[in-house]
Amino acid sequence: MVERLETAGVHAKVMPGELTTAIGAIGDPEGVRALALEGMPGVDQVIPISRPYKLASSELSHHEPTKFNVDGHTVGGGRTFCLIAGPCTVESREQTLAVADVVSRGGASMMRGGAFKPRTSPFSFQGLGTAALEILKEARERSGLPVVSELTDTVNAEAMAEAVDVLQVGARNMQNYGLLEVVGKLGRPVLLKRGLSSTVDELLMAADYVLKEGNERVILCERGIRTFETATRFTLDLGAVPYLKLHTHLPVIVDPSHAAGDRRLVEPLSRAAAAVGADGIIVEVAEDPEAALCDGPQQLYARDFERFAHGVAAHAALAGKQLA
Ligand code: PEP
Ligand code: MN
Repeated sequence: MVERLETAGVHAKVMPGELTTAIGAIGDPEGVRALALEGMPGVDQVIPISRPYKLASSELSHHEPTKFNVDGHTVGGGRTFCLIAGPCTVESREQTLAVADVVSRGGASMMRGGAFKPRTSPFSFQGLGTAALEILKEARERSGLPVVSELTDTVNAEAMAEAVDVLQVGARNMQNYGLLEVVGKLGRPVLLKRGLSSTVDELLMAADYVLKEGNERVILCERGIRTFETATRFTLDLGAVPYLKLHTHLPVIVDPSHAAGDRRLVEPLSRAAAAVGADGIIVEVAEDPEAALCDGPQQLYARDFERFAHGVAAHAALAGKQLA
């Protein structure tokens, strides 16, 4: 069957199940239909995937949520909640290691920290770049937590893949298709954030760019969108979470920090994200946010982190999930 599909230029993705094997046939629907697969020996049924996204669609996985492992920490699958926390930006070794200690003690399952920062103004602090990668490696060794960091262009792809455990594609790059294809080939899990003005279907089609390269470890992230409302930095689209859970098998997490832009809103939004069925959250934490070079007002105080994590874990438990 795979041979038949591939000779017709159709990409075949084989998913063995207990009783039947599903084969995702990704290609021009007319071409697939012309192969007349229905009725061939071994073919039980042919189900057209009606959505514009294919590999990300829950139709492809028989509505089973995808679960994978990041350095011993489970992501997705519906039973675990991952708490990703850390500074917005790696500013120094001391600042980063101090926050790493706090979040690992407080129950985080992964750590975040920006090395290359996508700043709106070219005159704003752009991050420590490659020097930050060394600091992140040390933070990982010391805390035992996998590290998430953003890749802003393909130039640093190899260095990033070597230094960090999860590659983040930021909101501003969600539709940078060349970057998505490169990231799909690096063999690292990918955290893909929703674009500032992107629909959820566009997010899922962006995920298809990574998935089609053979990388199946993709985490989607709702991080707030542009609306007429300016009271919060972005409008956190919590409705997108159950929508995505319905339409994709990929794990879905929420970033309430960048959505809110105000730390006082981060805890209620984190609890809400857990309650509405998210597979995790990613939050910014600093010991001294007032001194932060980027996103100070939205970073949680490190001293509040443990209490914060308990509250979120309780809400995740209501949705049947335990902290990973
Ligand atoms: C970030 O997480 O550091 C970030 C810049 O987020 P976003 O791409 O969602 O703005
Ligand atoms: Mn930030």
